[in-house]
Amino acid sequence: MAPPTVTLKIPNGKEVTINTGLFINNEWVSAKNDEKFASINPATEEEICRISKASAEDVDRAVSAAKAAYENGPWRDVDGTQRGRLLLKLADLVEADHEIIASLEALDTGKTFSKAMKDIHEVFEVFRYYGGWADKHYGQTIETAKNKFTYTIREPIGVTGAITPWNYPLIMVSLKLGPALACGNTCILKPSEFSPLSALYLANLFVKAGFPPGVVNIVNGDGREAGAALSEHPDVAKISFTGSTATGKLIMKAGSATMKRVSLETGGKSPVIVFDDADIPNALKWVYYGIYANQGQICTSTARIYIHEKIYDDFVKRFVAYTKKHAIVGDQFKEETFVGPLISKAQFDRVLNYVQIAKDEGATLISGGGVFADRPGGKGYFVQPTLFGDAKPEMRISKEEIFGPFGVFFKFSNTDEVIKIANNTKYGLSSAVFTKDVVRAIRVSQRLQSGMVWINSSNNSDYRVPFGGIKESGIGRECGESALEENSILKTIYLNLEMTNDE
Ligand code: NAD
Repeated sequence: MAPPTVTLKIPNGKEVTINTGLFINNEWVSAKNDEKFASINPATEEEICRISKASAEDVDRAVSAAKAAYENGPWRDVDGTQRGRLLLKLADLVEADHEIIASLEALDTGKTFSKAMKDIHEVFEVFRYYGGWADKHYGQTIETAKNKFTYTIREPIGVTGAITPWNYPLIMVSLKLGPALACGNTCILKPSEFSPLSALYLANLFVKAGFPPGVVNIVNGDGREAGAALSEHPDVAKISFTGSTATGKLIMKAGSATMKRVSLETGGKSPVIVFDDADIPNALKWVYYGIYANQGQICTSTARIYIHEKIYDDFVKRFVAYTKKHAIVGDQFKEETFVGPLISKAQFDRVLNYVQIAKDEGATLISGGGVFADRPGGKGYFVQPTLFGDAKPEMRISKEEIFGPFGVFFKFSNTDEVIKIANNTKYGLSSAVFTKDVVRAIRVSQRLQSGMVWINSSNNSDYRVPFGGIKESGIGRECGESALEENSILKTIYLNLEMTNDE
């Protein structure tokens, strides 16, 4: 039975039609057992629609399609320039439907519509960026000896899997599929079960752009079933994953049987250090953004904030006033909203549980710390922007990733000590330093153990620049040219120029 299409009426007046099935070989198909799951609007807790839920058998169908397209299909003969054209066309199509896709993503995730507009803008720019790269990533000739000609070429890896989270659904898709397709791989995408809708919309744009059947396949479904089946599949040569550290470890383990390549963008608990000579209005702006943007559901969320003791009291006072003015909680489609609902009931309960943990551990509640009082109809996963102070390094709120609008302030007096505390974590994704002293800024950034450091800003990343972590925050780099290296194989060819005859 063909899977149904649904027409969704979005609160901002937009209407969008999507197919709810699995997208395999450029066709819409139902899950083998016809199982479905619900997509929920986190602001109302109401079901938006029901989506086909892929089983391991369905994932196998998608992998077979991707394998056939890679090994026998027309994709093999599509050169870099043509692949680039397809990606550029895709970028144009996403741009043409910018508002519709942003509306769908806001509805599905609770992300504010204005944030979703920025995200989708990045999506089409990422596809355009990797479209530009598709015929510009190649090997070298390497001089060795006169009687040898030695060179390297870049080859695709083959069938690749992409497993994405719910906090930046389509950006993550573009950062994985953009470079994978530019390099000539075929792909199976498994979006998060909490944000399945925008990928379904994108599926039809791949067809419109002219991608041949089997090159991109999209299977929504549960992580433990569909995600695990993809990670274990022997015909999948690489998994590119963004999500929690715990799942990243499972994916590494699942891929080890066939020595799959993995690139993992996982969790974080990023520190910010605000020195006493910092430009305070600038620090307030970025610290605020680093805690509360996207409801704090950002892997690089700078949620541990170390403030020099000389400015601590004044900073806290000004930060509370800043938050009161800017952190307006509400429905994701209201223009004034900055903090929308959290993604799910589980995430809502989790953040509120950390409020209790913080109180039990003796941290001081500075602001927020509860359910947002004016929830429309008493529904929705809205949590007040929350801030705790006087935190100690050994507290759970200082060590564990909370993934909500939840900041933790600490007082420090000594630079060596604060760097040591900032580095004392299993994570190493990002960090930030605020100071007007350029030498101090650079020295401290060199000593912070993280894949990325911001000086005088926070969460200020860019798709043209390598993105990724160290320690348990991940393996590999997304974005920029690095992503092309992650998505291709370097093959070496030795040509012997000297024929010998020892007969
Ligand atoms: P998650 O790990 O629960 O899920 C991520 C994806 O993995 C989903 O598609 C899920 O279905 C799938 N999955 C779950 N179990 C699986 C399994 N056993 N095998 C294969 N796939 C499986 O993470 P989440 O809750 O969606 O996202 C939040 C986490 O993602 C946070 O920890 C956050 O820090 C991290 N994140 C990291 C980055 C980064 O770039 N470093 C970016 C965004 C989010």
